[in-house]
Order: sequence, then C-alpha cells, then structure tokens
Amino acid sequence: MIVAEPKSLDEIKAMVDGYDRVLMAGCGTCVEVCLTGGERAVNITATALRLSRKVEGRDIEIGEQTVIRQCDFEYLDQIRDADKYQAIISLACGVGIQGMARKFPNIPVLPGVNTTFMGFNEEYGYYTEMCKGCGECVLDKTGGICPVARCAKSLLNGPCGGTNNGKCEIDSTRDCGWVLIYNKMNDTGEREKFLAYNGPKNYQKANNLRYMDLRK
Ligand code: SF4
Ligand code: SF4
Repeated sequence: MIVAEPKSLDEIKAMVDGYDRVLMAGCGTCVEVCLTGGERAVNITATALRLSRKVEGRDIEIGEQTVIRQCDFEYLDQIRDADKYQAIISLACGVGIQGMARKFPNIPVLPGVNTTFMGFNEEYGYYTEMCKGCGECVLDKTGGICPVARCAKSLLNGPCGGTNNGKCEIDSTRDCGWVLIYNKMNDTGEREKFLAYNGPKNYQKANNLRYMDLRK
C-alpha cells in the first residue's frame, strides 16, 4: 500500500488562507488504512480547520466527501458539486491528488498529506517501506527482500562494511537489509545464489516518466 502522513494543520491553514469555501476530499483505499486519508481523517482535519478559523473570527465552509480511490476517474466521477468550492484539499496519495487536479482543471487542488512510501502493514499504525518501484525487480536474487528499499544505500550486493550486529550503520535502530537477505537465503538453502554477483540495475527505468499500457 501507499503510505502517507498528514500535513500539519498550520500548513493546511496556510494553503487555504485565501479561501472560505473548500472541499476536503478523502481517498478510501491505501491512505485510509494508514489513517491519513479516509472518511474519518477528512472529518477530523475538516473539524480542526473549522475550529481554528472560528477562533480567528473567519468562518470557513468545508464540504466533506470521500471516494473509494482518487487514482481512478471512475471514482472521481462521484465527487459532487465541486464547482461550488474555491479549492479542493485532497487527502489522497500524490497520485490521487494529481488525479483530482486532472479531474477538476479549473479548481486549485491542494495536498493535505505528504506521500511517503510503498509499505507493508506490520501492525496497526506501523508500516515498513518495502519497494521503491524501481521498474526492474531483483527479489528473485535477494530472497524476496528488496535491497533497493531496505538497504540504506540501495546496494545490490551486500552487506557493506558498516553492518554491525545485524543493524545498519546509517541507522542503528533498523535492521541491515543485507543481513536480512543473507539470513533468509541461508534458511532457504540459497547461499550460492547469495554469493553470486548482482550486476548494475538500469535505473533509467525508475527515473523517467513511466506508464503501463494494457490496451494492446
Ligand atoms: S527490486 Fe525494485 S521493484 Fe523489486 S521490490 Fe525492490 S524496488 Fe520494488
Ligand atoms: S549496513 Fe546493511 S543496510 Fe546499512 S547500508 Fe550497509 S548493507 Fe545497507
């Protein structure tokens, strides 16, 4: 899932400073799971914004709507009465926010969250980054553990000389990705594969505008 964290109320307030009629739009998929963008987050953020403006003596009308996904026109079509608002605050990931901006080209669309990473839901409210969408997956060579996302240096061969008691030299609170890879491949009898050299990856696949066309 895509993980995002809320922007601060001060930041959102600054973005809508010139408006008194805004729509707060939630997304009910990934960002809802991480408690950042679903119906509840919309309601909490909208309420905080209303109260804050009231304290300043400047009321603001905030519509609240949440669709299943903002990364899909099919669901964006369900947004109602958008043209009655001066701006839209989107509580979706960066993809959804841009989807919203495309759907409503004449209305400013503002980000209510910071999109952070693609992660795994370890437990309620705790996520680990697992994939950086590099476009050339090497999980078959690394025991199903991503060296790009889980090694601080994105090394394709490791561990580096800094690993210490299974922890990463960049951040001693986090496991060394390459120790995880070694342990896993040792357990699965893939030591030989572990010792094989992994050649450089083509990062051009990750650095250019990408698309997927399934229409053919
Ligand atoms: S190797 Fe690339 S595609 Fe595969 S999990 Fe890692 S970042 Fe994602
Ligand atoms: S200690 Fe491990 S995770 Fe950290 S940079 Fe070195 S190989 Fe990567």
